Amino acid sequence: MPVMVLIPCLICVCLASRVTGLERMMDAREAYEELGYRESRLVELTGYEAEYAAHCAGLTRSLKGDASAESDKETGEEYLREAVTKADTDGDVQVNLVSGTEWDGVHKVYLTFDDGPSIYTDDILDILAEYDVKATFFVIGRDNPISYDRYNRIVEEGHTLGMHSYTHVYDEIYASTESFAADTLRLRQFLLDVTGVMPRFYRFPGGSSNNVSATDMHDLVDYLDSEGIVYFDWNVSSGDASGSSMTSEQIIQNALYGIEDRETTVILLHDTASKWTTVRALPGLIEAIQAMDNTVILPITDDTTVIHHSI
Ligand code: ZN
Repeated sequence: MPVMVLIPCLICVCLASRVTGLERMMDAREAYEELGYRESRLVELTGYEAEYAAHCAGLTRSLKGDASAESDKETGEEYLREAVTKADTDGDVQVNLVSGTEWDGVHKVYLTFDDGPSIYTDDILDILAEYDVKATFFVIGRDNPISYDRYNRIVEEGHTLGMHSYTHVYDEIYASTESFAADTLRLRQFLLDVTGVMPRFYRFPGGSSNNVSATDMHDLVDYLDSEGIVYFDWNVSSGDASGSSMTSEQIIQNALYGIEDRETTVILLHDTASKWTTVRALPGLIEAIQAMDNTVILPITDDTTVIHHSI
């Protein structure tokens, strides 16, 4: 008789724990969809990340009322132009942080983070604050309250907020000049709404020298010019996007390449959920640069020498 009771009980316990696990997976899935991650990222979720995603799901749901109120705002180009005018009038446009002549003859290094905000943005910002370093974030569109906080932290802590397309879906943004323009306007308006800052720097997904655009990149550059947006490529890649096999030590080594030989070095780094090694590399990278003679780390401003790939 005890066995007859025990077996169903054990089955119940097993089923209950499986249901909890599945619920957590569902929460993680929902969170990541809300946070704008693609489903492929979900399979990479493990341990801490899965916990965090589940936490985000609850938080996002509880704040959803505010988010939907935000999304009710009028959209479109005209709205954006009005907002630009207003921002100009109000003096809200981001100002230069460094004068043009102050750093003449100094090796200038720009740390640039693509693809954020992510679950690591706060870690990156904490490290930058610890070393009193300003960087540049080329962000994409993530329309949720947790990301709003991260966009605002970037701005409030004196970093440069740049654009990296709203969707980061190559097929869509590079389909035509019109679709590229629509995506850029959408992101620009979104970031202005969220932060009060009108971003004016851009990094093309894949860089301006990408081989995937269906549209002549010169046309897209002309479009950015017409909008007063300056684009930046990079002249050093940390390699942090080239797979999880890249160690923090390798990232540092790659990122430091040739800094002493150049006046301007723009380093490509990433702020994404799958790039914990970047976060781990950051303190060592900053320390190594700060130890170099006559070298300074700066955020991108109007005074920064543009770095363009040849297209
Ligand atoms: Zn990217």
